[in-house]
Amino acid sequence: MTQIKHIVEQIDQVLKMAARYSVMSVNINIQRNVIEMINNASSKNIINLEKSIRKNDDFLSNLFKSSDISFKFFKSLLQFMVYMKENNAEEAWNRLIEAQNLLSLSVQINPSQFGFDKYIKELDDYERLLFPKQVFLSPAYYSDNLECTICNNSLFKCNHITGQLYSGKICQLRITKLNLDHIAIVDDPLDKRRRVTSTEQEDYTYENTITLERTPMTHKEIEQSKNDGGKTKGFKAMVIHRNEEL
Ligand SMILES: [Zn+2]
Repeated sequence: MTQIKHIVEQIDQVLKMAARYSVMSVNINIQRNVIEMINNASSKNIINLEKSIRKNDDFLSNLFKSSDISFKFFKSLLQFMVYMKENNAEEAWNRLIEAQNLLSLSVQINPSQFGFDKYIKELDDYERLLFPKQVFLSPAYYSDNLECTICNNSLFKCNHITGQLYSGKICQLRITKLNLDHIAIVDDPLDKRRRVTSTEQEDYTYENTITLERTPMTHKEIEQSKNDGGKTKGFKAMVIHRNEEL
């Protein structure tokens, strides 16, 4: 039991350190080092998680899984800050959204952890203050196969609750045999990485929706635009499917 207490204290220490250095003004090299430390702690934690699952220790399995999500959250948050400082705002956006997604998962799993309420507001503020307003997309799929990641049965035939921990595993929705129906423009998508990434401009360029950099259109794109008589404006978009099982 004392060994477990020691492991839990170590996890707590790394998370407290991660929280301390997840502030924009902190030196970029220090933040890179902290990301490395989180990576190390996270690998050890995964080994402990696998051990606990093998031993059927539900309590410890859930504890280590919950820590895993917290480590991933701080890693994404720190990577967001590092990318901003490296003048790579598009990658920073992806990491920020990743951090938001992990945060909402964390809150679902363990609502009382690490004063996470503070981070929900903080991450929303970063999105609102540091980036131009984005246009989000939501692909609508239909599928006959909605599976539970815990028991692999049809979602309608099991009692597991999505977003809850079961013996160190998170119950998620697994969608197989996907068919894309249509793509809609929405205000509040499931994943904000799905968005319009650049828009066609009058001067035959595409303007990046985050950096506002303009890149010349290709000959083919200019031809298409001329044939259309400039009636519709083209855009490029990112429509990734969110299929990571955590
Ligand atoms: Zn199930």
